Amino acid sequence: MDDVDFDELVASVTLREENQAIKSYQNTVAISCPACGSQFDDLIVCKENPTSLNLSKQLDLCVGSADDQAVIFTHKK
Ligand SMILES: [Zn+2]
Repeated sequence: MDDVDFDELVASVTLREENQAIKSYQNTVAISCPACGSQFDDLIVCKENPTSLNLSKQLDLCVGSADDQAVIFTHKK
C-alpha cells in the first residue's frame, strides 16, 4: 500500500470517532480493502504506538502502514 492510495482512502471515508489513541473512519462509499480486495467496514488509524483497540466485535482485520502509523481495515464476520 503506498501513501497516495492511503491519502485517497482517507479522503473518501467518513470520520466517525477520534480519541487520543485512534481515528476511526466508516467506509460509506464501498471502497475495496487494499490488502484483500474485499469491501471493508471501518478504517482505523493508530495515532499512538503501541495502541490497544479493545474491539467489541469479532472482526477480520487487514493491516497496513502509512506515514509511520498503523492502519487497520476491519471486516465483519
Ligand atoms: Zn481486507
